[in-house]
Amino acid sequence: MTEARSAPRGGQQPCPQCDQDWVHTYRRKDTGALFFMCPECESLWLNQEDVNDPTNLYLSEYMAQYDAVSVWKVIQQVS
Ligand SMILES: [Zn+2]
Repeated sequence: MTEARSAPRGGQQPCPQCDQDWVHTYRRKDTGALFFMCPECESLWLNQEDVNDPTNLYLSEYMAQYDAVSVWKVIQQVS
C-alpha cells in the first residue's frame, strides 16, 4: 500500500509560480467545477494545459465569496 511519493503521476507538474509544491487538481463542492491549484502559494488555473504558464488568478480571487478559512471546506483535492 505504499505509494512512491517522489514520482509525480502523469500530468502532475511543479508549480511554475513558486516551485515549492505540485499543482494538484481540486473540485469545488458548491459547483462541481474542477480547477488546478498549488496549495503552497494558492496560484490557480482553470485549464490544465495552462499550468505551465504563470497565472494571475489566486484562490482568494477565484472563490471570493468565501473567506480564507471556509474556502478550504468548499474545495476538495482530487489528485
Ligand atoms: Zn505555488
